[in-house]
Amino acid sequence: MKSFIADNIYRIDAELAGTAARLVVVTKTHPVEKLQEAYAAGARMFGENRPQEMAAKQPQLPADVQWHLIGQLQTNKVKLLAPFVHTIQSIDSGKLLREIDKQAAANNRVIEGLLQFHIAREDTKSGLSLAEAEEILAAPDFVQLRNVRLTGVMGIATFTNDTAQVRDEFRQLHGIFQQLKAAYFANDAAFCEISMGMSGDYALAVAEGSTLVRVGSAIFGNRG
Ligand SMILES: *Cc1c(COP(=O)(O)O)cnc(C)c1O
Repeated sequence: MKSFIADNIYRIDAELAGTAARLVVVTKTHPVEKLQEAYAAGARMFGENRPQEMAAKQPQLPADVQWHLIGQLQTNKVKLLAPFVHTIQSIDSGKLLREIDKQAAANNRVIEGLLQFHIAREDTKSGLSLAEAEEILAAPDFVQLRNVRLTGVMGIATFTNDTAQVRDEFRQLHGIFQQLKAAYFANDAAFCEISMGMSGDYALAVAEGSTLVRVGSAIFGNRG
């Protein structure tokens, strides 16, 4: 018998087919058995928001899973993730970027990262402004970071039914991506990701150029 988890993954993958977007399955709070179901349905990118939870689950899943950290990360927790994390989507300071580089180097790895931007009107959601990001990218030591590779941007839209506003916020993030691409990454093909869109708004995000949608409850049901 097919699970509803698998059905939801097949449906969303079918919706994304022919677009630029790929699915990051957001597995936070769910037990490992459910992650294994998602894996069996073909999911290979998993998003978690707590470092400890991700580190506990990782050894229980096959090694070809790409683990994406999507929640706020304190510098003292980077060490826990550095041996295996694929992408840290929530980079919001130069200090964090340097710590990721340092811990990745200690593990002989390159860790990918996205700069997280504040695009929501609510001031509860964290993230950089364009000016703050440019300060990080223009810092003299930025080019010396060998073990962290910035691959794009991430943002969380306002939680609202106002689709015009959400569309606006996604366009803003797409614009930030294009500005940074032109100014700092013009010759860097790896800088290509725009992570935006969640269960309630991923269709809109895809229409506005998302390359990574982060979907949890539309796959697993409500987290309760
Ligand atoms: C929890 C979470 C998601 C997924 O949210 P759903 O609404 O369950 O799809 C996406 N992005 C971030 C940053 C999250 O914390």
